[in-house]
Amino acid sequence: MPSMRQSYTVTVPEDPPAPAFPFLKPDLRRKSSAMSGSVLVSTFVGLLINQAKNSKNAQGLVGLRNLGNTCFMNSILQCLSNTHDLRDYCLHNSHRRDLNNNSRANTALMEEFAKLTQTLWRSTSSDAVSPSEFKTQIQKYAPRFVGYNQQDAQEFLRFLLDGLHNDVNRVTVRPRIQVQDFDHLSDDEKGKIMWSKYLEREDSKVVDLFVGQLKSSLTCSDCGYCSTVFDPFWDLSLPIAKKSSGEVSLMDCIRLFTKEDVLDGDEKPTCYRCKSRRKCTKKFTIQKFPKILVLHLKRFSEARVRTSKLSTFVNFPIRDLDLREFASENSTHAVYNLYAVSNHSGTTMGGHYTAYCRNPVLGEWYNFNDSRVTPMSSSQVRSSDAYVLFYELSTSSRM
Ligand SMILES: [Zn+2]
Repeated sequence: MPSMRQSYTVTVPEDPPAPAFPFLKPDLRRKSSAMSGSVLVSTFVGLLINQAKNSKNAQGLVGLRNLGNTCFMNSILQCLSNTHDLRDYCLHNSHRRDLNNNSRANTALMEEFAKLTQTLWRSTSSDAVSPSEFKTQIQKYAPRFVGYNQQDAQEFLRFLLDGLHNDVNRVTVRPRIQVQDFDHLSDDEKGKIMWSKYLEREDSKVVDLFVGQLKSSLTCSDCGYCSTVFDPFWDLSLPIAKKSSGEVSLMDCIRLFTKEDVLDGDEKPTCYRCKSRRKCTKKFTIQKFPKILVLHLKRFSEARVRTSKLSTFVNFPIRDLDLREFASENSTHAVYNLYAVSNHSGTTMGGHYTAYCRNPVLGEWYNFNDSRVTPMSSSQVRSSDAYVLFYELSTSSRM
């Protein structure tokens, strides 16, 4: 429906920037200005009292109604609602600017996502919000989410971020892919070129926040030639490390993910120098650290056909997750702080998703269980239900 899309993006009005205090709703201000002086004073006092009473509801602490097995969706939406920069992007209507430049895509998903985020942060009622209009859009984008079956939260996150990115991609015409030889360049230069080539095609606020770059090095066991490949990543799916005793740490899982792997037998790659298939070792390092690092703990045997679940307790730090040892370059600072967790409790057959999020304004942790939102202690955040972890690069790490 190209004509519909076009008229849709053209007629979208530019909203004024969000007020500094989201609970001071424009309609309330309009009402009070129309009243006489004395009434205005008492209304103002009443407004202050209301502010104190309602500030809890107006600060992103609003639940989402379960539409029937949609806890996977609610859990991820609350994690994203508490993603500071993405929240601001929606609250300030900055996405509109990016939508307008883009008539290629159907932009309804981003619009609905922004509307929902705005409702979560500006609602003055404590009533849970229904995400049904958002659901209509996500299932238009990804038909697998039609109906009311339990779905995988991480898979949903991938589809959602991809859909949002497509709606606000600053690239309207993707250049053709040209095969070029970068083997004469240093790894660092090659990584930079590959990243800029990626941005020529995929460039959005979503990419700014969530996408990093992984370097895989393939070393020939015969001649020692090392070839490198750079790939963007939107999250890292970590295998859960197994230990005979003691707890498993998140670092153990990341080490397992990045550990050197031998490619032999049928998996033997072709060595560029030997010009024939050779046994090689493969290793991952992180070339570019994303602002928001999403770590998915592979608890399920397979996302689509879940046959078993590992309920191993993975100990993860809430503050100062230092990933420097996984960096391609030695000098990189890569320290992250946790701000949200999507949890899965129960078994593969019947389970329930919740979210633990640190409110970016209040700095306190809350438990989002569909329509219920309750405060919690940061000491309760770590549990064996943790499934998808959301980390933010610490500001001192940003360059
Ligand atoms: Zn070789």
